[in-house]
Amino acid sequence: MHEVSLMATAVEVAEMHAREAGGTRIRVMRVRIGAASGVVREALEFAFDAVTVGTMAEGAVFDVQVVPTLCYCSDCSEEFTPASVFRECPTCGSFTADVLQGMEIELASLEVT
Ligand SMILES: [Zn+2]
Repeated sequence: MHEVSLMATAVEVAEMHAREAGGTRIRVMRVRIGAASGVVREALEFAFDAVTVGTMAEGAVFDVQVVPTLCYCSDCSEEFTPASVFRECPTCGSFTADVLQGMEIELASLEVT
């Protein structure tokens, strides 16, 4: 995962929303990342500080919410949080589970002034 380019895009989108809302400064930026998305929270926070210099989001509070992985096993209709990257169903041992959440990388909310 390239956290810097990811953050640069996120900040661009955030600035667009802030302008549409008539704001000049982004005070708080909240993002949601899935535990299975491959994004490293610390790297994202570091990237945020780097890419916001000179933007509307410079000095903003950056809030990262990590969404736990949730899988669904179609073999036994069980929802579970996988213990490993192999997503083995703890009930029936199947490896065919679908990921319901945990892959997302999204802008959750903004506070603009
Ligand atoms: Zn199962």
